[in-house]
Amino acid sequence: MKKILITGAAGFIGSHLCEKFLKEGFNVVAMDNLLTGSLTNIEHLFKLKEFEYYHHDVSKFVHVPGQLDYILHFASPASPIDYLEMPIQTLKVGSLGTHNLLGLAKEKGARLLIASTSEVYGDPLVHPQTEEYWGNVNPIGPRGVYDEAKRFQEAITMAYHTYHKLETRIVRIFNTYGPRMRIDDGRALPNFFAQAIKGEDITIYGDGSQTRSFCYIDDQVDGIYKLLMSDYSQPVNIGNPEEITIKDTVQEVINIVKGTTSKVSYHDLPLDDPKKRQPDITKAKEILGWSPKVGRKEGFQLTYDYFKNIVV
Ligand code: UDP
Repeated sequence: MKKILITGAAGFIGSHLCEKFLKEGFNVVAMDNLLTGSLTNIEHLFKLKEFEYYHHDVSKFVHVPGQLDYILHFASPASPIDYLEMPIQTLKVGSLGTHNLLGLAKEKGARLLIASTSEVYGDPLVHPQTEEYWGNVNPIGPRGVYDEAKRFQEAITMAYHTYHKLETRIVRIFNTYGPRMRIDDGRALPNFFAQAIKGEDITIYGDGSQTRSFCYIDDQVDGIYKLLMSDYSQPVNIGNPEEITIKDTVQEVINIVKGTTSKVSYHDLPLDDPKKRQPDITKAKEILGWSPKVGRKEGFQLTYDYFKNIVV
C-alpha cells in the first residue's frame, strides 16, 4: 500500500484530503499542531488502521519512520484574520516547514505537493489570473506574511526540483469553501452564514464590488489528487472560475438561509484586499482533465447544512 503524509491534516482542506486518500486506498499519516486545525475534523478516522496521527509543528525537524511515497504540505494559517494574529508562525510554516518537508521527501524518495495560493498573485493586475502572471504583492502589508511565505515556498520547491531532481507539484488554490470551514476564521463565507443564521448584521467590507470565485471543497480535493498523480511540476491553478461580487455573494447566502432577519452593514475594506480574483483554469483542464462540477447553489446549500448545526 502507498503511504502519504498530510500536514495540516486537521484543517479544513487537510481533513478532506485525508478522507480522499483513505478512499483511494492509501495509508495516511496525518500531522498537525492544531494551531488552527481541530481534531473534531478527523476524529472519525482514528478507528481506521490505515490512519495514524502525529501532533507536530512542521516548522521543527520532521521525522516519520518507514516508507513514505507522497507528502502533501497543507499546514498553514490560511485566513486573513489568522495570519494577522499569527504572523511569525505563518512565515515559519511556509518557509522552515516547507524546507523540512523537502528534506524529508528527498530522504524518503517521496513526491511532494505543496499548497500554494492565489495570494501569490496579490492584488492582481492581470485578470483572470494565469499561472504565468508574477503577481502584485505588498511584502510588508498585512497579507505579506502569508503571500511572501507562499512565494518563498514555491521558490524553494522549484529549487529542490531542479537541483535535487525531487518530484514536486505546486497547486495554487483559489477561494475554497464547504463543510469544516472554521466558523470563526473571519472569512467571508463562514461570517456570512453565521451572521445570517443568527440574524445578525451581515458585514460587507468596502462597497462589496470586489470579486472572488468560490470553489466547492470536493472539486478542490479532486483537482489536488489529479495534480499529485500527474507528471506536471509547474504551478497549476485549482479553483472555480465563476466570478461573483461580494455583494451578490451575500444575496445568495440570504437566499439560502431562508427567513433570515439579517440586514447588511458596510465596513472599511481591509488594507491590500484584492479587488478581483478569478482563476484561469486552462492548464488544469488541459493537463489534468479537471474542471469544477459543483455550482454555488448546490455548494452553498451543503455548506449551510453544515453551518446550521454548529452555529449556536
Ligand atoms: N469580506 C467581507 N465581509 C466579511 C469577511 C470578508 O466583505 O465579513 C470580504 C473581504 O474583504 C474580501 C472577500 O470578502 O474582499 C473575501 O474575503 P475572505 O476573508 O474570505 O478571503 P480572501 O479572498 O480575501 O483571502
